[in-house]
Amino acid sequence: MDALLKPSLYTPAATLLGGRCACGHVFYPMQTHGCEVCGRHGGDLQPMTLSGRGTLLSSTVVHLHADKARPAPFSIGKIALEEGPVVRTLLVDPAPSIAPGTAMKATLVPVEDGKRDLRFAPER
Ligand SMILES: [Zn+2]
Repeated sequence: MDALLKPSLYTPAATLLGGRCACGHVFYPMQTHGCEVCGRHGGDLQPMTLSGRGTLLSSTVVHLHADKARPAPFSIGKIALEEGPVVRTLLVDPAPSIAPGTAMKATLVPVEDGKRDLRFAPER
């Protein structure tokens, strides 16, 4: 199995490494600096694996990136994860036309250096 580009953010099964506060707030990615709802920190914030499933809120195609080394076009989307957090993330390429409200699922795709990185695609 290929190595992950960002192993602190997701697993080889394309689940997401988030967290949950003692108050019940779920967040992504995992951090212990402080809950954005109640302010608890440290041990009150525990790791929680998120399903990688969610609903597309909006998406767009980026045709020109400020970093000239970054190949364009590519697609980004705003996804409400089923556990609650809303993430802005890369979508699978080539960019399909996806309607808001579409059920989405995280997947791993090959990227540079033989590694795999996270993208979201319509759930089939
Ligand atoms: Zn909290």
